[in-house]
Amino acid sequence: QARQGLRSTAVQLFAIRDASTFRKLMAANRGEIATRIMRATNELGIRAVGIFSREDRFTQHRYKADESYQVGEGKTPVGAYLDIPSIIQIAKENKIDAIHPGYGFLSENVGFAKECAANDIIFVGPTPENLARFGDKTAAREIAIENNVPVVPGTPGPVSTYEEAKAFVDNGVGYPIIIKASMGGGGRGMRVVERAEDLEENFKRASSEALSAFGDGTVFIERYVDRPRHIEVQILGDGQGNVVHLYHRDCSVQRRHQKVLETAPAIGLDPAVEKAMIDDAVRLTAAAKYKNAGTVEFLVDKQGRHYFIEVNPRIQVEHTITEEITGIDLVQSQIRIAQGESLADLGLTQDKISIRGHAMQCRVTTEDPATGFQPDSGVIEVFRSPGGMGIRVDDGPGFVNAHITPHYDSLLVKLTARALNRDDCAFKLKRALEEFRVRGVTTNKSFLSNVLNHPDFIAGNIDTSFIAENPNLVK
Ligand code: ADP
Repeated sequence: QARQGLRSTAVQLFAIRDASTFRKLMAANRGEIATRIMRATNELGIRAVGIFSREDRFTQHRYKADESYQVGEGKTPVGAYLDIPSIIQIAKENKIDAIHPGYGFLSENVGFAKECAANDIIFVGPTPENLARFGDKTAAREIAIENNVPVVPGTPGPVSTYEEAKAFVDNGVGYPIIIKASMGGGGRGMRVVERAEDLEENFKRASSEALSAFGDGTVFIERYVDRPRHIEVQILGDGQGNVVHLYHRDCSVQRRHQKVLETAPAIGLDPAVEKAMIDDAVRLTAAAKYKNAGTVEFLVDKQGRHYFIEVNPRIQVEHTITEEITGIDLVQSQIRIAQGESLADLGLTQDKISIRGHAMQCRVTTEDPATGFQPDSGVIEVFRSPGGMGIRVDDGPGFVNAHITPHYDSLLVKLTARALNRDDCAFKLKRALEEFRVRGVTTNKSFLSNVLNHPDFIAGNIDTSFIAENPNLVK
């Protein structure tokens, strides 16, 4: 009854576009992002459908869904969320109009996007052509070069043998270099090589790791930029050639090339470099008639030069901070674009997009800093969420007895703070972290607080080596 009520209110609010509105949307993911998608779905008056693996039957996102189904019978815990036939079958049996893939899992899978289309299900994400161009890092580099976007000096395409790799490095780029998996993501599938004598072994390892982690052993090589900042530009495209940007994020606080805490907007950029990055991001994606949400990632070196590294053709973990400074709901925008609305229909022309204040997000994981960030698992015994002005909690509604299993990524909750200036924002986030209580599993809360307390962080005076160079943060 209540849901019916919500739906009819939404129908009234969005009466004009009701004919094309989805009735049921499936979040083909787990954890906080599944819940995030379901929340946006419900707010648009759409019924939210969840899927879960057998291992996830007592996990949070299942209980958020209006209806949910087990997928991937007989598959591994991760394999269940990658089981395309099972997911499509559930979607068809239950009359799903659209599938939002979240991040990770099937989000950049061209075959899945095509399979959705073949079954009259709308894939809430980029077109299969967009995914094929940008999901592969070497293909994306080529498009960047074609569109005059500066890239990190590197191999023109994939490198298949050690001899080829050696010839390339010896002929100019020099050490250190980074070997990257073309299909890699999430900070995995990368190896830094400092000296010529380590190239052979690292090259072979990188290829075999890429094959086992991403099902594709293709790698390429880039010069390893010395202590860069990681700056990324959020864009939205409607597939009709219109692209807008929603400013930028600084994701330089990283541990082993994985983001820990993100801030928006990026501060202290040379205005010319800032403008160039935004222009490059929009030009690159508009040229591809990009559809849906995407992120164009750059490194900025000590001399202030920027280099394209990749496009993430999906919603990102850190999208919340952009939502907080722009007031634009990115996940709702994704769903509405997938429904066929243009950016103008959404009221999202560039002149209407502005930012206010600062936002910071930290990733609370079930990892123990004291044991070198070993993932912990167990049953949640106490879960007290923080709140108050300017605090946002993205979770899969945490509850006592929720099971945290060792099978998946250890992200538990994202805490986001928003305030008019950066100092207030950091203090607010620290207060929220202190208020947040989880017992039953260990988290990385102390580590996140240490980062927020660090004067260099507050000053914005950091690069991607910040955590490695400050071992005291891990206490
Ligand atoms: P992923 O797709 O796994 O996130 P990225 O290509 O986005 O991989 O790189 C992740 C991080 O690795 C970057 O933010 C940066 O810290 C580091 N990195 C990647 N490429 C380079 C490079 N050429 N030089 C220095 N650091 C790099």
